[in-house]
Amino acid sequence: MAWQADRMISIPDVDLAFVGGGGAASLTLAALGREAAGVRIAVIDPVHKRGQDRTWAFWGYPGTVLDPLLSASWAAVDVITPAGRRELPLTPLRYAMLRSAPLYELAQQAERDLGALRFTAPAEELHDDGSSVVVSGPGGPLVRAGWVLDSRPRPPRRPGRTNWLQHFRGWWLEADRPVFQPERAVLMDFRTPQPARGVSFGYVLPVSDRFALVEYTEFSPAVLSNDAYDTALVAYAESIGLDLASLRVREVENGVIPMTDGLFEARPSPRVVRLGTAGGATRPSTGFTFSAMLRQADEIARAVTAGRPPVPQPPYPARHLWMDSVQLRALDRGLVDGVAFFDRLFERNPPERVLRFLDGVTTWREDLLMMASSPLLPMTRAAAGDAASRLRG
Ligand SMILES: Cc1cc2nc3c(=O)[nH]c(=O)nc-3n(C[C@H](O)[C@H](O)[C@H](O)COP(=O)(O)OP(=O)(O)OC[C@H]3O[C@@H](n4cnc5c(N)ncnc54)[C@H](O)[C@@H]3O)c2cc1C
Repeated sequence: MAWQADRMISIPDVDLAFVGGGGAASLTLAALGREAAGVRIAVIDPVHKRGQDRTWAFWGYPGTVLDPLLSASWAAVDVITPAGRRELPLTPLRYAMLRSAPLYELAQQAERDLGALRFTAPAEELHDDGSSVVVSGPGGPLVRAGWVLDSRPRPPRRPGRTNWLQHFRGWWLEADRPVFQPERAVLMDFRTPQPARGVSFGYVLPVSDRFALVEYTEFSPAVLSNDAYDTALVAYAESIGLDLASLRVREVENGVIPMTDGLFEARPSPRVVRLGTAGGATRPSTGFTFSAMLRQADEIARAVTAGRPPVPQPPYPARHLWMDSVQLRALDRGLVDGVAFFDRLFERNPPERVLRFLDGVTTWREDLLMMASSPLLPMTRAAAGDAASRLRG
């Protein structure tokens, strides 16, 4: 009955309501701002995202609309293990860095251009009657939308068989004299002490010879204490020859991203589409999310412009999710050594194939080549364990 009452109450009608205005929504708003004039939009989020709250690193082809917003990009990256340094040429792709502030600004500009309504309130209930959705906050109904794009963080509908996290702390370090090599980005440096269960690595993303993001990351089941991140980061920075006494920490970046084979529901009801991490855009085997969010944002904008429903393709093919599930299991159950696993992946595949695989856009043939490059026996055991667990489930 509640929704019938909503029909009586005068609330604004829009074509699209964004419930959650973070990364996924900002990319989609920016794409709509470019392509979809005349669409009526509302954004509902208790926080109006502005400024620098995260840094996105991602790979892709150069020449996109985001290029003017990038802080840096690299045509090659290094992967380092105790055995040595592997320089990976990425052309025709490139590794890029986008700080959040310019993206949030672009999204805000798009909101202004589109005349979007903004509700600074949490959304609580979404009532979908199959032809429209009423979004309600703590004070009652806020807006009626033809479609809702919901990116509120939420756990997967079906918990994972393996539940890891990508968790990290990064420092934006500033120097008074040249210290960093802006043309050399380190994707993963596995010379960090390895956790008993999990994989750790450091990395360095320099935007100039005096300013860089230096980070300590773990793929493992649980977060660390505050002090443990600092200790690990100091140790990593010193291990690569940085003199911390002569550097200033300008910003601190912390993050926890799910790495799970749990099931994220992308379409919980006919007119609600989940976006971002909540919609399964986070790649289970790495925690990378940005490229899938970007791809889906462009798809949605094209669909809306063409008068079609704003429903993007699934972020990753089912076979990739299965491969990730097997990989997570192999790492979690100690069937493979994490550092050796990633090193081998880059040793036996062209970097472009690995990166396109992680983005979910490789072909069957390329996927078979990727599988053939991983250690056969442990991965077969992990696949058998995965199959048994699915059968039990
Ligand atoms: C520090 C950090 C760094 C990252 N770096 C990378 C990277 O380098 N590369 C990469 O690929 N991925 C990265 N990620 C992962 C991923 O890209 C980001 O988490 C990204 O912001 C996810 O976008 P999202 O829209 O799903 O979630 P968010 O950006 O977190 O947005 C969710 C929004 O929902 C809002 N919300 C919450 N509750 C409600 C409610 N009740 N009603 C309405 N709105 C609500 C929140 O306020 C927030 O604005 C990073 C994540 C973090 C945290």
